Amino acid sequence: MEVRVKILYTSLCHTDVYFWEAKTPVFPRIFGHEAGGIIGSVGEGVTDVAPGDHVLPVFTGECKECPHCKSAESNMCDLLRINTDRGVMIGDGKSRFSINGKPIYHFVGTSTFSEYTVMHVGCVAKINPEAPLDKVCVLSCGISTGLGATINVAKPPKGSTVAIFGLGAVGLAAAEGAKIAGASRIIGVDLNPSRFEEARKFGCTEFVNPKDHKKPVQQILAEMTNGGVDRSVECTGNINAMIQAFECVHDGWGVAVLVGVPHKDAEFKTHPMNFLNERTLKGTFFGSYKPRTDLPNVVELYMKKELEVEKFITHSVPFAEINKAFDLMAKGEGIRCIIRMEN
Ligand code: NAD
Ligand code: ZN
Repeated sequence: MEVRVKILYTSLCHTDVYFWEAKTPVFPRIFGHEAGGIIGSVGEGVTDVAPGDHVLPVFTGECKECPHCKSAESNMCDLLRINTDRGVMIGDGKSRFSINGKPIYHFVGTSTFSEYTVMHVGCVAKINPEAPLDKVCVLSCGISTGLGATINVAKPPKGSTVAIFGLGAVGLAAAEGAKIAGASRIIGVDLNPSRFEEARKFGCTEFVNPKDHKKPVQQILAEMTNGGVDRSVECTGNINAMIQAFECVHDGWGVAVLVGVPHKDAEFKTHPMNFLNERTLKGTFFGSYKPRTDLPNVVELYMKKELEVEKFITHSVPFAEINKAFDLMAKGEGIRCIIRMEN
């Protein structure tokens, strides 16, 4: 059930940097999970894809057979759900990379910082071969996560007001989702005001920097919106922002969606009355998209010009200069840097 993929483009996402810095015992390993490529060859049992197919690798899979895959309400596949500690293939517990006879481990089943990689077929989404891989490769992680958080989970009604906490790649995609859904006010909340100008291109109409106010940001947002926003999407990973994102939604109908990955010791604390007053709190993994079933349709949104992907791509470097992509991310510059494998 494995495929060998020739990676043509990959990009750097925070998860790669996080696990690189964490220096886990799984070492040496090849990072990279946001990418686009072409199937080179397929192993026994693979019937869904064939050599030449264009694919997006995904860090979490869809086996299509487990209770999660069979449920229309879940994308958390039992077999292929993200596992950041596993550095080997699930079939035989071995790695497909080696150097001088010693294994080099995989990362989240993708390892796309490589000209060729081997993946479980359940972790590749076959997409329209007309779609330019140097653009749609960014849809294989962060952008789809933010977009889906709004479109699939928060589901803002037309004309509604949406607050987006955190204006990194994921938050900007969440704002774009609110724009596509027809929200009329999109309020960007970030501690870093240098994010605001860029966020206008993604539909943000107003901005709040919590540092500019003495009052809690929940209160500022309630004052701006006559009692609270209709929807909020948290894309920071910061526990305070998660609580604020919940408490700033309107009673009666407000829905808050958490996307950020919190610190391991974080605890969410709020008064239960906030729930009794009919506010809803939700969380989402990968924008609640099923990787193989739904990602091809996200690519089609781009093909139909309903989703603009180019504006997320601010830099591009050849593979030999991949460290420049790490430097850009460390400095918080731009949104996505495409790494070209061939030139
Ligand atoms: P990023 O670091 O580029 O952006 C985060 C932004 O949040 C920054 O602009 C920062 O200034 C802002 N911020 C931090 N603390 C804040 C606070 N208290 N209030 C307001 N703004 C604050 O990150 P990103 O790549 O956009 O990812 C965002 C989050 O989404 C991360 O936690 C990431 O791990 C998570 N993520 C989740 C999934 C999922 O499936 N749930 C998938 C991908 C990424
Ligand atoms: Zn499954």
